[in-house]
Amino acid sequence: MKVVAITGEREVEVREVKKPVLGKNQVMMKVNGCALCTWEQRMYSGVIKYITPPFVGGHEVAGEIAEIGENVDPKAYPIGKKIVANLIKKPCGKCYFCRHGMENLCKMADDIDDGYEIPGTAGLGEYIKLNLDQVYFMPDDMPTEKAVFAEPLGCVIQSVNQTTINLGDNVVVIGGGIMGQLHVMCAKARGAYVIMSEIDPERRKLAEELGCDLTFNPMEEDAVQFVKDHTDGMGAEAVFNTTAVAAVAEQAIKMTAPGGTVVMYSSVHAGKEVPLDVGYVHSKGVKITGTKSPSVRSFTESVNCLRKGIIDPSRLVSGVFTPEQCKEAFETALRPDTFRCIIEYK
Ligand SMILES: [Zn+2]
Ligand SMILES: [Zn+2]
Repeated sequence: MKVVAITGEREVEVREVKKPVLGKNQVMMKVNGCALCTWEQRMYSGVIKYITPPFVGGHEVAGEIAEIGENVDPKAYPIGKKIVANLIKKPCGKCYFCRHGMENLCKMADDIDDGYEIPGTAGLGEYIKLNLDQVYFMPDDMPTEKAVFAEPLGCVIQSVNQTTINLGDNVVVIGGGIMGQLHVMCAKARGAYVIMSEIDPERRKLAEELGCDLTFNPMEEDAVQFVKDHTDGMGAEAVFNTTAVAAVAEQAIKMTAPGGTVVMYSSVHAGKEVPLDVGYVHSKGVKITGTKSPSVRSFTESVNCLRKGIIDPSRLVSGVFTPEQCKEAFETALRPDTFRCIIEYK
């Protein structure tokens, strides 16, 4: 089979490797498409140093059932059925987190790359083997370009689920990248009044087209004051910080309404510290939390939102590439004016 392998800093190529061997209780997914997430982009651009290439990767993946292993019911898992896979990791099921409904925080989670010729083989390979609990069904007419959003949308739903957004609440989304735009769509689906803080006018325009009620440029406005001015002086019941800028975190807390929740969505490099007005947090009862990866539940909710058309991520696709165009795909994905780039196997 083919894989798109990252082979060095800003080096990526198609390699021919052995197809994995299917085990009991597993299905083989023929990959139709895989989106290039920030993690893969960081691996390609050499920011991630703890893995030695060659490495395949790819976790925003959609495809179809190509083969079923022993013990798998062919009626329940028919060949050709469209599926998506929750494969960012396989929770252990035994640790504290797994047994408290927080399997996205499982410490023992393992990649399921055993038996692959190149380590880390996942969505950027032509075939992946899956355990049944990783398989989620999609309708037959679901385009690959939408189905690959199951994982990133699951991450955003996990974030939104940290808050209680009620009908008519105010929500602020900081940052209008792909994750910010998905937060806008989810908050609108929850019935909120949504404000976005974003420097780039194109991203603000897109947010408005996706339903955002109000956008502003934080370089031109005092962000905290702007939010207070447009929320009857209260601040927002939920604030999502999707930027990796540590300094923005402080603003995010100050624009949260008393009793509200602020979610630090983006991964900020560990060790970056921000000043925190603990007195403000104390007297206003502001809840500060973070979020990482989808849980089984939020992944399921994401699949439901996509298959029922509740969230349509089509506008966030910036390009579809063949495996042979992988270099162009990664370079395009790294550009700040793009959202998701997808590599599709025919
Ligand atoms: Zn991702
Ligand atoms: Zn666990």
